[in-house]
Amino acid sequence: MLGMHDRSLAAVVLAAGLGSRFGRPKAGVRIGGRTLLGVAVDTATAAGLHPVVAVVPAGVSVPPGALGVTNAQPGAGLSRSLQLGLGAVPSDRDAAVILLADQPTVGVALLRRLLGARGRTPVIATVNDGVLGPPVLVERAAFDLADRLVGDVGLRQLLRGVPDEVTPVEPGGPIPDVDTPADLERVTEPCPGCAERYLPHVADETHPYIGASAACWATYGELLARELEDMAYGRMHRHSADVYAVQHPGHDDRRQRQSVALHLVAICQWLEHELPVELVNAITQRLARSDRVWPWLTPPASFAMTVADVLQASTGEAHAALVRRWGIATWEAWSDHHDTVRDWAREALGER
Ligand SMILES: [Zn+2]
Repeated sequence: MLGMHDRSLAAVVLAAGLGSRFGRPKAGVRIGGRTLLGVAVDTATAAGLHPVVAVVPAGVSVPPGALGVTNAQPGAGLSRSLQLGLGAVPSDRDAAVILLADQPTVGVALLRRLLGARGRTPVIATVNDGVLGPPVLVERAAFDLADRLVGDVGLRQLLRGVPDEVTPVEPGGPIPDVDTPADLERVTEPCPGCAERYLPHVADETHPYIGASAACWATYGELLARELEDMAYGRMHRHSADVYAVQHPGHDDRRQRQSVALHLVAICQWLEHELPVELVNAITQRLARSDRVWPWLTPPASFAMTVADVLQASTGEAHAALVRRWGIATWEAWSDHHDTVRDWAREALGER
């Protein structure tokens, strides 16, 4: 629960790590449709923390809504990043929650537990694997904590040294650090339809696509929201719905067989016949009303692009271009069935 008090709390996301074991700065490492840094910023924002200060290496941009601070010397270690981050917290904030960008499984519930433990000590830290560490809530009175840190070893060691100043909070489960691509694989799970890897997602509502993971379905929900809010995005809605559907064909049953067939016909008529959307709509509605029995088409094993790629667009124009590329890549992946679908598409065109 967020109390009134919590309006005065900021977040500091430490993402300046060089990512030597990733081969590039970890802040930009992709996870689902987001980045490691984006996940941490979203979690802090959802917990009601404001502003969210993100400490990044030079050349790494911060997600919209975050306040970027560049650590030009990431080699100087965590202590420098922490000093820069706490230094950027506005003076009217009573406390800050420090998060690491490489702990993407830290959720809003844990941050709320830290907030709920305020009042007894100037520092509240998470017990991870028996050791006190981030995420850590630091009251303003203890901001000089950062000055006591030197180099890269730091926070966990320092917390161990001042047990009287720290309230420990138990997380719901272990909090793995993501240092390598293999770590990233361990904390994510593939969507059964498009195979995109997402952090496990607790769905608020059951989703109608049995062929998608809850996290993938939620990502498609974000795309849908953009298309409904902004006409520049909205004109691609018919096509993104078709492409998403054939990337998540689900199981061989009557409803799914029809769904896959009709959406593939619509994609074929869009890309190969350049049919206007109104005509595609009319044709698929007519096909849906017929009592035709459609065969099951064995779906491709993987796709070159997923809905997570399409979410990267920041303008309607870029969105349109990405949806088209997504459509072409997906149509290509279904090439084993092109002849069948082309026959259906031509037949439906002739019947109109
Ligand atoms: Zn998916």
